[in-house]
Amino acid sequence: MPSIIIARSSQEYRAREDALAVACAQAGWPVLMTPHLYHLAEASPIWQDVTALPPSVVIVSALHPRPAEWLLRKHGVAGMVLAEDIRTLDALDDVVERLRQFGHPPCADVTVREVHASVGQRWYPVIDSERCRHCGQCAQFCLFGVYAMIDGRLTVRQPDRCKPGCPACSRLCPHGAIIFPLYQDDPAIAGAPGCVMTPDPQVVARARTRLQAKAPVSTPVTDELDALIDELDALAQRKD
Ligand code: SF4
Ligand code: SF4
Repeated sequence: MPSIIIARSSQEYRAREDALAVACAQAGWPVLMTPHLYHLAEASPIWQDVTALPPSVVIVSALHPRPAEWLLRKHGVAGMVLAEDIRTLDALDDVVERLRQFGHPPCADVTVREVHASVGQRWYPVIDSERCRHCGQCAQFCLFGVYAMIDGRLTVRQPDRCKPGCPACSRLCPHGAIIFPLYQDDPAIAGAPGCVMTPDPQVVARARTRLQAKAPVSTPVTDELDALIDELDALAQRKD
């Protein structure tokens, strides 16, 4: 029996989120409504509510399904995950029918529980761990110390040091594993269905050349990174 998580997004989708919550509860699934999960602080106790749910989870959020799933997995959800994007949901009846195929609801009365927290705007990479091969190129590339290689495995150690709006390392990953779910200019970087981010060899070569002379740093080198991001974006656009 799955639990439904409906992550609040913006005012635009509020009525749809509420209607879906009621429809799911009426159909017999317990519903947990949370703030926007991407913006939720790493230390928020709401993550404990999420990971305490039964093993099968349906997440409905204003994110593409792939980043939504990896966000949950990063925070410890280990069972089956079905992710739905509230922005593209069709008729609620169809959605409820799809959920029925994922797992049958119990026949008891269930309620909608909403948990609240004040959330700021965050910006950080979400890693698709099925694709990541732990090559470490992103960790080498990032000047802000967002990533670390620990025991040969890539970790997003300091997500909030990521530069807002910067998607540069996603263009370099050889396996399309780095997702910036809120990036609007390229659906592949945002992890949209059917889109795979493939590295642009020209961009990779240019980035390597620019960074070759640089020793790892512990403090942001904003001007250098800004210039590099502009250069990568310009190169990527020329390829489009
Ligand atoms: S560049 Fe891609 S594959 Fe390599 S460690 Fe980073 S995310 Fe993983
Ligand atoms: S987007 Fe930029 S700042 Fe953020 S992790 Fe990647 S390289 Fe570092």
